[in-house]
Amino acid sequence: MEFKKCARCGCFFMSNNDVCCNCETRDRLDIAKLNNILNENTDFNSIQDLSIASGVTFNNLNRFIRNNKIDGLNNDFYNLK
Ligand SMILES: [Zn+2]
Repeated sequence: MEFKKCARCGCFFMSNNDVCCNCETRDRLDIAKLNNILNENTDFNSIQDLSIASGVTFNNLNRFIRNNKIDGLNNDFYNLK
């Protein structure tokens, strides 16, 4: 276990994850929301578009994509910016 800074809220915590336990829940909700949106519409031209449509912040969205957390979104999409 390492002492880390949460990628989402910036607090310090002990874990092997990127985010603290509070933010794990928030991450899960965001990812569920993104997957729902992408089930209905995959016609997004950029991460910015998807961020606006989902309400998930650009930073969090980038982090999810980088960590392959979202089905159907891969690094090709990430490279579009
Ligand atoms: Zn946190």
